[in-house]
Amino acid sequence: MSIKVNPKVIEELKEFGLKDAGQCYHCGNCTAVCPLSTPENSFPRKFQRWVQLGLEDKIKQSPDPWLCYYCGECSDNCPRGADPGETMMAMRRYLTASYDWTGFARRFYTSEVFEVVAVALVAAFIGVLFLIFGRWSEALAKPGIALNVFAPNKVIEILDLIMAAGLSFFLLSNVWRCIKIVHGQLMGKIPFKYYKDKFIDLLWNFITQWQFSKCHDKMQWAVHLLIMTGYSSVFLMVVVFLRWFQRDAVIDPEWPLVSAIMTLVGYYATAAILYGTTYALIGRIKKSKAPYKNSHGTDWMFLILLQLTTITGILVHVFIYLEWPLACYVIYMIHLMVAVPMLTLEVPFAKWAHLAYRPVVLYINEVKKAYLADHPQAAEQEEAPAEAEAAAEAA
Ligand code: SF4
Ligand code: SF4
Repeated sequence: MSIKVNPKVIEELKEFGLKDAGQCYHCGNCTAVCPLSTPENSFPRKFQRWVQLGLEDKIKQSPDPWLCYYCGECSDNCPRGADPGETMMAMRRYLTASYDWTGFARRFYTSEVFEVVAVALVAAFIGVLFLIFGRWSEALAKPGIALNVFAPNKVIEILDLIMAAGLSFFLLSNVWRCIKIVHGQLMGKIPFKYYKDKFIDLLWNFITQWQFSKCHDKMQWAVHLLIMTGYSSVFLMVVVFLRWFQRDAVIDPEWPLVSAIMTLVGYYATAAILYGTTYALIGRIKKSKAPYKNSHGTDWMFLILLQLTTITGILVHVFIYLEWPLACYVIYMIHLMVAVPMLTLEVPFAKWAHLAYRPVVLYINEVKKAYLADHPQAAEQEEAPAEAEAAAEAA
């Protein structure tokens, strides 16, 4: 069996943040210490090898980069400074670009200028919309805060749903490509019962990030969990429950219980995101541990947009309390100028996309394992290319 080799893949991967994979001399320490590596899904040494050999197709088809949560233990234990944890991170960026049919993800990951300009253009577009269509004078003529006169939540909700439909289309079409790639030859051949049996695992993993909790650095898991749950809560409230979430008073007299619940969820999300992003930003500035030593432009953009969205959201809330209408409307406009580029660009094409890819790949991987355990013949066919590759490596 022939194996396609692309000797330029190492150079290409450097554009996605690959650092020192060429230094690896394959001692295997990294795979031995990795708490998430298993005999069926063994990493990260294998990827250092694949990168050196230029095995592009093997890299693109592997689910393993999504099984790594970047705890950094492998990089800390590498005697050659080959930073295998960063190799896995670069692989996730590379895979995100491979799944994306629009080419935007590749541009985001390989050009910081492109990413900054794209975010600035969307932000400017939202600002112009508010300057033209915001009901400034009407809202300022009302007593107290009239946020729903300035930017009626019914209008914002419709625009929100249009935006959600657009980003869902791009994200889900890319997730579908990811699903096909990870299934490989088994696409369409696994009975439904395997998907059903593993579905609870998918939800459990998504909500708790349980796999990550197996790493020794529990703080990384906690920070990841805080950011993920905080962001998901806000996403749900903004996209699905906006008409109750955007209010002129902290407790709406018409919906006291619902608005109290919304407020509490909002407080949790704010605290969780602020703590998580501040911890990660300080870690990246100080390069305090292996996962924070090499920061790609998209890592900064992700944290900065998330933190700015949260801080401006807090200020909107504070100005509602203080009843400062002009400050409230201006900061609300800025809040959306930050939040909309984050949602429309980061979610389908950049770092946020891993929120969808990781649980989906974990799920398919478990489904495949269960199916192959019951069907040894199919397992042999799956293993055949791997054996051919091993023989090629040995030769
Ligand atoms: S990356 Fe480092 S620890 Fe892993 S196999 Fe290569 S040299 Fe050894
Ligand atoms: S960063 Fe952690 S989870 Fe990822 S390969 Fe290294 S040791 Fe394993």
